[in-house]
Amino acid sequence: MNKTLRKAVIAGNWKMNKTPAEAKALIEEMKPLVSDADCDVVLCVPYVDLQAALEASEGSNIKIGAENCHWEVSGAYTGEVSAEMLKAVGVDYVIIGHSERRTYFGDTDVTVQKRVRAALDAGLTVILCVGEYLEQREQGITTEIVSMQTKIALGGVSEEELKRVIIAYEPVWAIGTGRTATAEQANEVNKAIRDVVATLYGQAAADGLTIQYGGSMNAKNAEELLAQPDVDGGLIGGASLKAADFSVIVRAASK
Ligand code: PEP
Repeated sequence: MNKTLRKAVIAGNWKMNKTPAEAKALIEEMKPLVSDADCDVVLCVPYVDLQAALEASEGSNIKIGAENCHWEVSGAYTGEVSAEMLKAVGVDYVIIGHSERRTYFGDTDVTVQKRVRAALDAGLTVILCVGEYLEQREQGITTEIVSMQTKIALGGVSEEELKRVIIAYEPVWAIGTGRTATAEQANEVNKAIRDVVATLYGQAAADGLTIQYGGSMNAKNAEELLAQPDVDGGLIGGASLKAADFSVIVRAASK
């Protein structure tokens, strides 16, 4: 496997944290720390922070994303935000199918597929999250679970559109828990996802796909995780709220 075929992407997921003023301050702090990154740097922030984040990041190498989007372009969906709306404010990326959306807000593989479709139609790049619960890992069905999630989410996605998809393997038991998958576990599942993508689109498309690991990645464990042949970056929750920690991860991905 040739890692030079794809660019590493380090993406922060701020979840429900930071006011617009705090978002601006954190991005101002991050900018000089990540300016020489040899990887793509993305911050996915709450909807209300998007404008402040776009302004604060202007002219820098930090790109801004949202944490979800609805599948319809517009309509009677109180409280929702469409992919078209995100594109209109200047957002480039959107996380789809994060396990917190699946667990707490009723997202299913089918709604994830619809959100992916809408995001791609709007011209966004998708960070598609897949991952197993602890019980599923213990049952030995991790590969089946992530394969199914990947196949359903990519249903109807063309090979050309796949170039705007990043997959984040996030074992649910490792998110926000401080419990990280070992580098071997992360690589094994990332490779399994790449193999599934190869069956759908061919090996060349699979080799070009960025597959991140996410789940308690931090300044201490990032280097080992990111050194794995099939780990092409990270989706970072907690550690993306601290400029110093996030920049260490960005540096580790730039090696
Ligand atoms: C996440 O929210 O995608 C995540 C990986 O969180 P954390 O890094 O805090 O585990």
